Amino acid sequence: MISRNQQLFERSQKYIPGGVNSPVRAFKSVGGTPVFFRRGKGAHVWDADDKTYIDYVGSWGPLILGHAHPEVIEAVEAAAQNGLTFGAPTEAELEIAELLCKLVSSIEQVRLVSSGTEATMSAIRLARGYTSRNRIIKFEGCYHGHDDALLVKAGSGALTFGHPSSAGVPEETASSTMVLDYNDLAGVEQAFNQFGDKIAAVIVEPVAGNMNLVAPKPGFLAGIRELCTKHGSVLIFDEVMTGFRVGLECAQGLFGIKPDLTTLGKVIGGGMPMAAFGGRRNIMQCLAPVGAVYQAGTLSGNPVAVAAGLATLKQVQAPRFYENLAASTRQLTEGLAGAAKKHDIDFCAQAVGGMFGLYFRNNLPSSYAEVMGCDREAFNRFFHAMLREGIYFAPSAFEAGFVSAAHGETEISDTLAAAERIFSAWSLE
Ligand code: PMP
Repeated sequence: MISRNQQLFERSQKYIPGGVNSPVRAFKSVGGTPVFFRRGKGAHVWDADDKTYIDYVGSWGPLILGHAHPEVIEAVEAAAQNGLTFGAPTEAELEIAELLCKLVSSIEQVRLVSSGTEATMSAIRLARGYTSRNRIIKFEGCYHGHDDALLVKAGSGALTFGHPSSAGVPEETASSTMVLDYNDLAGVEQAFNQFGDKIAAVIVEPVAGNMNLVAPKPGFLAGIRELCTKHGSVLIFDEVMTGFRVGLECAQGLFGIKPDLTTLGKVIGGGMPMAAFGGRRNIMQCLAPVGAVYQAGTLSGNPVAVAAGLATLKQVQAPRFYENLAASTRQLTEGLAGAAKKHDIDFCAQAVGGMFGLYFRNNLPSSYAEVMGCDREAFNRFFHAMLREGIYFAPSAFEAGFVSAAHGETEISDTLAAAERIFSAWSLE
């Protein structure tokens, strides 16, 4: 019998390109039918056929408290009762702006937007306006949303489908974007030596989470910071994924480096469409209506989204929140790596705070090229075997995974038991 998931996917493809509203959801790289979700609670989701899964995607990062956290839902309901949107300032958006400035010391002023793409696109425009320069540096395999200037050798879905650079991006736009190798500080130095006075900004994921997970080598981020300062370029940390995911002071707190601008998203919206960009006051003052760099949004600072964000940020400030989250995530990655080792399978894993990477190779990758060398076939087999076991990992070998505060001992040990069964079966083949 054809499953409800399959029926829905067939119908969707008639009306929605590829049947999905964001490419990776289509399961194209892993094959098979995407799972249509009906409900989520805590660490679990239920699909259209009522099968339950332990969820390690968490809507790609926002759900750090798990699905339908009671206090987030309550805050959303209360805000909705007072009206969905005003297109005018509210006290709640001031509150979240104050909170972001308090928690992230490099942020002196912040502006709210509705998606990570808007945040990075606006940060780039602001950096160009502030410096009166055009060129930007990004790193291969980093994904910063689908703005034209940043959709060059990008990661995430772009990488999954083998089109890291999109059709439809004008040559002129792409040519202002210099793409360098992540973790190759010498490459950045060389670019600055050659074009230093033309570089408006360097944008970087301080932990790369869109080409699987690649941690920065010691000195990489500090070196970029130094070069940007020396050449008067704006350093943008894209913390849409890492912000409030790897620690309360984001990745910049973890590594002790202050960018000039930071982009945030995912966790700060608690599952609602909200993101932000902020940083040094003198740069932020270039934004309209104070300055000449235009940026706007009908639903920016939306009161319902802000309520979800505030409720989420309140929870993550609880004592030991990030220590506990990191411990669960480490338990998962160490357990998976242990099971693979026991059965002699080329696999390793690592965690940074509440995010993790799984790699079918025998040591941790530190570059885009090494990530590309992972065994994708093995990943796809593992993904589907785990899915059958009721464990939902990201449907692509190029995405980081996420653990939430709702993932407890039981969920982690059930996940490890499933992996043990799978690796054990593989070792007998
Ligand atoms: N930057 C990073 C680092 C991201 O991971 C993402 C989304 N995964 C974005 C930007 C774009 O955010 P959005 O999908 O909300 O536009």
